[in-house]
Amino acid sequence: MKFETLAIHGGEKKSAPHRAVVQPITLSTTFEHHEESLIYSRSQNPNRMALEELLAQLEKGSAAAAFSSGNAAGMAVFQALPLGSHIVAPSDMYHGLKKQLVELFKDKLEVTFTDLSDPENLEKAIQPNTKLLWIETPSNPMLKISDIRRLTKMAKEDDIRVVCDNTFATPVFQNPLELGADLVMHSATKYFGGHSDILGGALITKKSDEFWKQIVNVQQTGGAVLSPFDCYLLVRSIKTLAYRMRGHAEHAGMIATFLDQHPKVERVFYPGLTAHPGHDVAKSQMTGFGGILSFLVKGKPEDADKLISSLKYYTNATSLGGVESLIERRAAVEGPDTKTPQNLIRLSVGLEHLDDLLEDMEKAFYSIG
Ligand SMILES: *Cc1c(COP(=O)(O)O)cnc(C)c1O
Repeated sequence: MKFETLAIHGGEKKSAPHRAVVQPITLSTTFEHHEESLIYSRSQNPNRMALEELLAQLEKGSAAAAFSSGNAAGMAVFQALPLGSHIVAPSDMYHGLKKQLVELFKDKLEVTFTDLSDPENLEKAIQPNTKLLWIETPSNPMLKISDIRRLTKMAKEDDIRVVCDNTFATPVFQNPLELGADLVMHSATKYFGGHSDILGGALITKKSDEFWKQIVNVQQTGGAVLSPFDCYLLVRSIKTLAYRMRGHAEHAGMIATFLDQHPKVERVFYPGLTAHPGHDVAKSQMTGFGGILSFLVKGKPEDADKLISSLKYYTNATSLGGVESLIERRAAVEGPDTKTPQNLIRLSVGLEHLDDLLEDMEKAFYSIG
């Protein structure tokens, strides 16, 4: 089955009575004891089973687990590691996951943050107790590209497990498990949900090994599971994922080109631009460059704020991956400790008509002189 077909017909109709075309939502938290029945909804639920099967197929893995958020999915990986393990993670790792490692796991895990867009940095960071390599590509919010094939090959030589945060690319454009990663992590809140109305996360594994069993144990005992209603919504949203992603990427590419030529823009970060330092690697591991870009506005942070507030169709809000365009000055959201440049604007390009998006952006630039 091709991706589009799988997205519509994969992992569906677990216990659908009356030949329902759409799987009903099973709200029951408990199930009558019977040989083949489920037991309790924290352990499993028909809607979660359907979603997890679908996710495993889309990412070409053997199993998946659907979590209450992307952060909960990431946290389950960290909790499944032996105490005192060392992790190598990207210096611009998604800030919420970085916060977990820096604050919540401070006395439990060791971590080295490094720029993984240069694979040499991994070599320098590996220690005898390194158990996990965390990759995020394209990264948030700098759109840095890490070479998944090269990094996983290096990690394998030292028996290090590799997780790839595939939120920005989605399986439409990138399959990290085929490139060598052991696990894929998603914030399903973003493109999987696609309409800014579901909070969810997922892990997909290549092998159902001991480490995976430990992750599932952390999830089912810890309880960070996705509700039946949200599982249902995600299965529904994923049916259009491929078409949405193509629209997002097409629009992002055009807006990146427009910004790249604008005199009031210092720099554009989008892996689809040939001048992007990660362009060639991105081309070798992605079939599309995604719908997120960021750029540096010439001038002060206030100019960036002014530009944002002059826009009509781009909402000044955090998050990404929805059909509506969202824009924000990232450093203002990440707080005083951030290394993100103060004049950096991140843009989640939506599915409004491209002409409207371009015209709106062009006009907004007049507001800053
Ligand atoms: C949003 C996001 C997360 C965290 O997911 P939540 O669903 O917000 O918990 C992790 N990684 C990336 C790249 C994200 O964009």
